[in-house]
Amino acid sequence: MKAFQLVAPGRTELLDVDVPEPQAGEVLLKVTGAGVCHSDLHLLHAQALPFPMTLGHEPAGEVVAAGPGVTGWAPGQRALVYIVWGCGLCRACARGAENACERFPRGQVPGPGLGLPGAMAEYVAVPARTLVPLGDLDPVDAAPLTDAGLTPYHAISTARDVLMPGSTAVVIGVGGLGHMALQILRATAGGARVIAVDVDAAKLEAATGLGAHETLVSGPGTAAEILELTGGRGADAVFDFVGAEPTLAMAAVAVASYGRVTVVGLAGGSLAFPAAAPPQGLPWGAAILKPYAGTRHDLHAVIALARSGKIEVTVERHPLADAAQVLDRLEQGQIQGRAVLVS
Ligand code: NAD
Ligand code: ZN
Ligand code: ZN
Repeated sequence: MKAFQLVAPGRTELLDVDVPEPQAGEVLLKVTGAGVCHSDLHLLHAQALPFPMTLGHEPAGEVVAAGPGVTGWAPGQRALVYIVWGCGLCRACARGAENACERFPRGQVPGPGLGLPGAMAEYVAVPARTLVPLGDLDPVDAAPLTDAGLTPYHAISTARDVLMPGSTAVVIGVGGLGHMALQILRATAGGARVIAVDVDAAKLEAATGLGAHETLVSGPGTAAEILELTGGRGADAVFDFVGAEPTLAMAAVAVASYGRVTVVGLAGGSLAFPAAAPPQGLPWGAAILKPYAGTRHDLHAVIALARSGKIEVTVERHPLADAAQVLDRLEQGQIQGRAVLVS
């Protein structure tokens, strides 16, 4: 089969590799769609990875074979893959937080395309217990729900207690994850006002269509504009899907007292935390959070939202053979919504 692999730091190749043999407890999926995430660019530029590694951590597929001991799945059934492969047994996993699995303390829980062979290939083998039924969702367009849907849903769920009618949520970076965050906020955040922030005018225009009440061009004056829009109070929840120095600084200035700054983006910025009374640093009570992906339960909720038509991924479909060009375009900010590779 063809597989799009990271072969060395900064180098990818579309290679012919063996179709994986499903092991005990695994199913073999024919990949129907593999979303392309900005994290794939971070992986591309990372130094220490298990090379070669097939990329692709947003898998949707159709079951074609099952390994020994698999029950409940038959060829032809379609599913999304829950991509955080915790041990399923530790304290964190027992409470559903596989994204904090204690077998990988303070580190990265592996998943397909995240240390293990991923979905930018014609086939992928996955543990049967990680499959979640797709229902009547499109088997290509639903693929990004596994991360671009899951991760914002989880991030937003950590701020539910501050999101209600009269409160304000800010989404910084309305790309793959952010364009889903806007819709999830509108569908689940109890009437909160939603402000979208991006550097790209076309993405902000799309954000309005996806339910953003206000859009702001990202820049040095954006935090002041958010304060103005909130009567000086600031935003109750700021979700930063960029994670660069200027967006973190914007979040720190724009957040309200007892508000949340939830940093999802991994652009490598850092945020100072002066332990001093305001106006230095954050306002009183503000909290910073760095969530990872989401729980299996979150994925079920995301699929339910998509099946009810409340959220929808804006998808560009591309052939697997064009994966390298798609990554380039993503890096240049030219993808609207999410690119999904099909083979
Ligand atoms: P994307 O490239 O699709 O979207 C990024 C968006 O940010 C684009 O719309 C871009 O125009 C915008 N942007 C760039 N600089 C900006 C700035 N200074 N101000 C405002 N907007 C700006 O990326 P994505 O796939 O949505 O991923 C977003 C980030 O989230 C990446 O860093 C990715 O690695 C990370 N991520 C984290 C997790 C997690 O669990 N923590 C999971 C998935 C992705
Ligand atoms: Zn991702
Ligand atoms: Zn565990």
